[in-house]
Amino acid sequence: MAKVKGDIWIDIEKCKGCELCAAACPQDSLELSRKINSKGYHFIVKVEDNCTGCTNCALVCPEGIIKVYRKTLDKKDPVATITNVTKDITVTVTT
Ligand code: SF4
Ligand code: SF4
Repeated sequence: MAKVKGDIWIDIEKCKGCELCAAACPQDSLELSRKINSKGYHFIVKVEDNCTGCTNCALVCPEGIIKVYRKTLDKKDPVATITNVTKDITVTVTT
């Protein structure tokens, strides 16, 4: 199965710093920033590049300010095809 890489975008100016999204993230990708937004709230930031795009954070955010993106990482296309093998051979694949 192809791996899925996710990413999120947060409207930090509307964040209230409730941390529900951080608690719901199975990847521990989110943390409260030490900085504050213009309304005086510490806001959530992504601290790890390991998001899977599961959407948990967006679903629990009471402000509805998280957008989730997903990208499928397909396996590499084959670089060679071996045919007409008539006896044992050794093939080494380097990645
Ligand atoms: S989409 Fe899932 S993995 Fe990505 S930050 Fe949100 S809760 Fe975490
Ligand atoms: S759930 Fe929403 S409002 Fe709460 S900290 Fe996360 S982004 Fe901010």
